[in-house]
Amino acid sequence: MIRCNMCEKTFKTELDIPFIVRLENGETEFLRVGIPIKLGSEVFRGCPHCMTDAYLMDMEGSDNES
Ligand SMILES: [Zn+2]
Repeated sequence: MIRCNMCEKTFKTELDIPFIVRLENGETEFLRVGIPIKLGSEVFRGCPHCMTDAYLMDMEGSDNES
């Protein structure tokens, strides 16, 4: 489980975290299918509320992956 320590939203796995694009000018927006990513922008998985991955924290424990 992954949790955002800012808004306390939780994600079951990393795959549940949406992709966010950070543009060259610092603005952030959600990655949209079919829209090409602008040059100089950065794509990462981040909290959809906070629009950053800075507060995401891996919570060890309850998962039983084998
Ligand atoms: Zn958040």
